[in-house]
Amino acid sequence: MRALITGGAGFIGSHLAEALLNRGDRVWVIDDLSTGSIENIAHLKGHPRFEYVIDTVFNRAVMAELVDLADVVFHLAAAVGVRLIVEDPVWTLEQNVKGTEVVLELAAKKKKTVLLASTSEVYGKLDKPLFGEEDDLVLGPTSKARWAYAASKIIDEFLGRAYWKQKGVPVVIVRLFNTIGPRQTGRYGMVVPRFVRQALSGEPITVYGDGSQRRSFTWVGDVVGALIGLVECPAAAGEVFNVGHTEEISIRELAELVKRKTESPSEIVFIPYEQAYEAGFEDMRRRLPDLSKISRLIGYRPTLNLDEMLDRIIEYERRRLDDAGLPRK
Ligand code: UDP
Repeated sequence: MRALITGGAGFIGSHLAEALLNRGDRVWVIDDLSTGSIENIAHLKGHPRFEYVIDTVFNRAVMAELVDLADVVFHLAAAVGVRLIVEDPVWTLEQNVKGTEVVLELAAKKKKTVLLASTSEVYGKLDKPLFGEEDDLVLGPTSKARWAYAASKIIDEFLGRAYWKQKGVPVVIVRLFNTIGPRQTGRYGMVVPRFVRQALSGEPITVYGDGSQRRSFTWVGDVVGALIGLVECPAAAGEVFNVGHTEEISIRELAELVKRKTESPSEIVFIPYEQAYEAGFEDMRRRLPDLSKISRLIGYRPTLNLDEMLDRIIEYERRRLDDAGLPRK
């Protein structure tokens, strides 16, 4: 396929670019490097089927040309994570809503397939053992900035569905649950790279709240496989899919596991939410995907368990520290 990846220098986007190139596809990346990094795609530079543009998706002229070249647009450019939305709500909302509008408008002109990256955050405070795509979305009040992230992604989902229904644009929407792997940065709050880096450098491992909140983590390679499988499946158009894993762990146990695996001298410290984020911050207690819809349609099954994922990430982070000549404990 001929694929355009917005946000292709980001964590998931760069892995997607690599996977597509490995299959023999052509790849164009557009990224403004706001949260992505040129290092993530440095190894792809010079590849005969790879091109990249450093620009924002708001540059319509550039985007129009790129969308023309592609059959499929993977729209991953977004402000990601709750930390960013709490710190910079204006930029985050604009990025997430206006960016998607540009992509859908341009794709509609030529009826290009679009994959929209949404998030498990949209389920909000829903209290169920497994979150299904048809479940209600339960957000908190607008006085709490955290919910703006989910709200912006919900608008994206409505926009995507509207373009499919009204204009026949094949739009596939994925709700990504916590995705992990090499190149993920802890700068925007992501817990696994943060814990691994803290453990390897002997700094305190920072558990927010009492650590009883639970999450499931998915390997980035599994997520990328799901995205490619979905855009190649005509029956996925106009639909929303959870992409994740059902192996669950509490954040406190995660901290202990990382400490053990890295044999780190770091102490585990507990930081109140209001200190980590903002006063009155509400966290999700649990968040597990019902994967039956995506399994039925494309046979999706995550391949790595948490143990294997952590081993690989620890190895990657060790190498990164060594390459940078930084001390590790
Ligand atoms: N978290 C933590 N310490 C950190 C970063 C995050 O305890 O240094 C917690 C965070 O409060 C949440 C969980 O880890 O309960 C997952 O956070 P992340 O930002 O990775 O993803 P989220 O699930 O919030 O989208």
